[in-house]
Amino acid sequence: MATMSRREILGSAAVVGGWMLLGAERARAQSQAGGAGGAAGPYQLLPLPYGYADLEPFIDAATVKLHHDIHHAGYVNGANAAVAELEQIRRAGGDAIRQVRAVTNNLAFNLSGHLLHELYWECMKKDGGGDPPADSRIGQMIVRDFGSVDAFRANFSAVAAQVQGSGWAVLVYEPLAQRLLVLQAEKHENTGAWGAVPLLTVDVWEHAYYLNYQNKRTEYIKAFMEVINWAAVEERLQAAVRVG
Ligand code: MN
Repeated sequence: MATMSRREILGSAAVVGGWMLLGAERARAQSQAGGAGGAAGPYQLLPLPYGYADLEPFIDAATVKLHHDIHHAGYVNGANAAVAELEQIRRAGGDAIRQVRAVTNNLAFNLSGHLLHELYWECMKKDGGGDPPADSRIGQMIVRDFGSVDAFRANFSAVAAQVQGSGWAVLVYEPLAQRLLVLQAEKHENTGAWGAVPLLTVDVWEHAYYLNYQNKRTEYIKAFMEVINWAAVEERLQAAVRVG
C-alpha cells in the first residue's frame, strides 16, 4: 500500500495553515518547499520579499544581507537538524531518549529564530512606516489596547530598548484575553506565552544593527519604525483572530 504524503493526509489548506502566521504567499512557499518533507528538512530560507538595499537608509544593505543569508540561514539549518535528530532518537529507542532534552532546546531556539526572522522580514518594506490605517483592525485594536498609536509606538520602542542582551520585542495577539500585548523574547524562544500569536517583531540582537548603529540600539529601533509594513501586520492579525 502506498504511503500517504503528509500533504495528502492534511490537505493543502491545513499545510498552509501551519504557517498561518505568515502572509499567505510566503506561507504557501514555506509549506510547498518543506511541509511535505523536503530533502534538507521541513524548513527553508525563503528569499527576502524585497532587495537587500530596499530598506535603506533605515536598515543598510550590508546588515540585511548578512542577517538574512548567514544568521537567519543558521537558524533554518539548526531547526532542520534538530527535527532530524528527534527522528533518530525515536528510531533508536532505549537510552537515546535522554538526548531529547538537549535537542528540544536546540529546536526551540532555532525554530523560534526561524519564525521570528521570517516575521521580521515580512514586517518591513520599502516606504513603510507611518500609522496603521485608522479603519484597519490593527489600527482599531492598537487604539483600544494602548490608547493611541503614539502610545503603542512609545511602549514598543521602550520594551525593545530594555531587552537584556539578545532578544526581541514582539507585538502579540493573545487569543484568550483577545487583546494585544507587547512582550519581550529572550534569545528567540524564552519567555514566550503559549498561544500568543506574534504580529510584529523587532530583532534587537546586535547583529541586527551593529554595523550601522553600533551601540545605539534606540536609533535602530526608531529607524525600524520607518519601515514597518502595516498591511502585513493587519493580514496576520486577521488570520489570528479567525483562528483565536
Ligand atoms: Mn537576527
